[in-house]
Amino acid sequence: MKIGIVGTGMVGSSAGYAMALMGVGTEIVLVDANPALARAQAQDIAHGTPFAKTVAIRAGGYDDLKGAAVVVIAAGVSQKPGESRLALLERNVAVFRSVIGGVMAAAPETILLIATNPVDVMTFAAQRISGLPAERVIGSGTILDTARMRSLLGDHLGIAPTSIHAYVLGEHGDSEVPVWSSAMAGSVPIVSFAEQIGRPLDQAARQSIADQVRGAAYTIIEGKGATWYGIGAGLARIVRAIIGDERAVLSVSQVNPDIEGISDVPLSLPRIVGAEGVIANLMPDLDAGERAALKQSAEVISGFSSKLGF
Ligand code: ADP
Repeated sequence: MKIGIVGTGMVGSSAGYAMALMGVGTEIVLVDANPALARAQAQDIAHGTPFAKTVAIRAGGYDDLKGAAVVVIAAGVSQKPGESRLALLERNVAVFRSVIGGVMAAAPETILLIATNPVDVMTFAAQRISGLPAERVIGSGTILDTARMRSLLGDHLGIAPTSIHAYVLGEHGDSEVPVWSSAMAGSVPIVSFAEQIGRPLDQAARQSIADQVRGAAYTIIEGKGATWYGIGAGLARIVRAIIGDERAVLSVSQVNPDIEGISDVPLSLPRIVGAEGVIANLMPDLDAGERAALKQSAEVISGFSSKLGF
C-alpha cells in the first residue's frame, strides 16, 4: 500500500524512517519543495531497510502520490524572529494551499494525516482547503501526549503502559486536558488501582504527571532544538491503523461539529481509526473540572482557527 509524505524535514523524514522500520506500507513516496532534500532522505532511509522490513522508499513529485492511501503532511515554515503566532499560522496556511492542492489533484481519495504545528489549527485549515469530509483529515493531535501520560503512569504504578487506558484530550499544546476521571488500569479505575497497590495517585502525583506531559516538548526543545522521533513514531502508528483497518482507539485531532457549545473546532478526542479514517468519535465521561478545561482548550484553538477566514 502506498503512503505519501509531503515535507521531509525532521518530522516528515522521521515518520518515513519509523514506517520503514515498522514495515508500515509497501511503498513510501517523499515530496518536498526542496527535491534534493527529499531524494537524500529517501536514500538515507532506504539504506536502513535491508536491516528492517521490505518497504520501497523513494522521492517523487505530487503525481507520484496517485493511489496513496494516506498522505502525511509535515510541510511548514518556521517562525521568524519577532513573528506573531497568527502571522506564522497564515504563512503555514499558504504552504498548505499549495501542498494540499497538489495532493488532492493526484490523490483525491486519500486520507490526509496532518503533522505540521500548531497541529489542531492546521488540521482545520487542511480540512477546509481540501474539502474532504472531516473524518478523512486527521491531525496527530495528542497521540504523543497520550503516550507520554501512559508511560509516566506506567512508571508510577509499576505496570506496562499498554495496560493503562488514559487519554489526553483537547489541544496538542498548553491547554491540553489529561482525563483522570475515566482513566483505567486493567479494568480498575486508576485512582483505586493505585490505592490497591500502595502507590497512590494523589492530587500532587497527578499534577506532576500532567506537568511532565505538558512540558515534555519544551524539555526536548531545550536540549536539541525541536522534537521529531516521538512524533515520527506516532505518525507511523496512525498510518498503520488506517492501512490495516485496525479500528484502533487513538487520541487524534479532527474538526468537531460541537465541543461544549463551540462549533467547528479541531481538537483531539479518542477516535476509532481505520481504513475510512475516523470511523467514530468517543467522548469519555468527564468531571466538571475536565469539562471546563476541554471547553477552555476548544476556545483557545477556536481563537486561532476562526481568524483564518475559512
Ligand atoms: P519540522 O521540524 O517540523 O520537520 P522542517 O523545517 O525540518 O520542520 O521541515 C519542514 C519541511 O517542509 C522542509 O523540508 C521544507 O522544505 C518543507 N516545505 C516547506 N514549504 C513547502 C511547500 N510549499 N511544499 C513542500 N514542502 C515544503
